[in-house]
Amino acid sequence: MSAGTIGVALAAGHEELVLTIIINNEYRRHMISRVTSASRRARTASTTSAVVVAGVLVLASCASPAASDSGSGGPRIVATTTQVGDFTRELMGDDADVTQLLTPSQSAHGFDPSAAQLMALGEADALVVNGAGLESWLDDAVSSSGFDGVLIDASTGIELFGTDEHDEHDEHDADAHDDEAAAAETEDSHDEHADEHEHGAGNPHIWTDPELAEQMVENIARGLAEVPGIDTAALESNEEAYLAELDALDSWIEQNVSTVPVEQRLLVTNHDAFTYFVDAYDITFVGSVIPSFDDNAEPSAAEIDELVAKIRATGVRAVFSEASISPDAAETIAREAEVTVYSGDDALYGDALGTSGSDGETYLGSQIHNARLILESWGVEPSALPEVLQG
Ligand SMILES: [Zn+2]
Repeated sequence: MSAGTIGVALAAGHEELVLTIIINNEYRRHMISRVTSASRRARTASTTSAVVVAGVLVLASCASPAASDSGSGGPRIVATTTQVGDFTRELMGDDADVTQLLTPSQSAHGFDPSAAQLMALGEADALVVNGAGLESWLDDAVSSSGFDGVLIDASTGIELFGTDEHDEHDEHDADAHDDEAAAAETEDSHDEHADEHEHGAGNPHIWTDPELAEQMVENIARGLAEVPGIDTAALESNEEAYLAELDALDSWIEQNVSTVPVEQRLLVTNHDAFTYFVDAYDITFVGSVIPSFDDNAEPSAAEIDELVAKIRATGVRAVFSEASISPDAAETIAREAEVTVYSGDDALYGDALGTSGSDGETYLGSQIHNARLILESWGVEPSALPEVLQG
């Protein structure tokens, strides 16, 4: 059975779903032209087949009555990552249905939305994204879902660090980046183009600095205020309360970190996710187990040896694994360097917040957890939390 056949069978009243199934690459560009998106990457064969699969599953769910009619009846909002999902829920309270695409502990690098998620996106009034190039799959998801609501980029106005700064060895990648930039004759404006997803024009882990998280929350609140049906008074008051908590978090971390001499503030993590945290509190990032911001990469034997040598030379006392990444390489390195490894329940929350009931269930909880363990690794007993963050 062809996709076209399916489309004809269910055409009445299901135009958007049918479009998802039957449009091919040539037609899609026309049909979704109303969706304004910074860029659209060339479609890959795997994405195309995912769209067809999505269509079939969507049809199956249409067969059951009222499959998409659940929820509060408020605005329908889709958020991509666990962090922007948490920010959005803090801002909206119970006034909206928030569908979060990434699940707790799931890597944010590389992701395929499910059929049900694409359908939710197609029906959403707003889409909240981390931005900064993190969601490389986003343009395809927006296109294939037919989303035409308010697109809210939480990273708007935030200046990104490059991804090669901690990466002296990655000359091959750096050269490739330069060559392609030159070939495209867009040296100056390269960062603004779609290629940033593949080439890592900026480190996307902006949420790890609470001050930048405040900026993200403000961006999200500003975007949500544009969504029809939003209670803007409630939004403003939720925003004010949450920003106060983020501010208290930042002050608490700052005060505690300041008790440690700058030269002793050393950090080794699993991948390059804490650049903004490190910058915010004058911490020296000695290295990451995976020498990249992409957690799919694996360290080579030479890279492991080099990090072990750096740990010994600098006096780093611990290696931190991340909750969303396998701890194997971090454990190997810690063992070879004869330092403490923080993994399992003591891993840091980097790319993803934690599961329900864990310390990292919320953004605030994840940051408190991370700061406490990093302070502990430096021999510091953290002070009591400010009142606004207790309970
Ligand atoms: Zn990451």
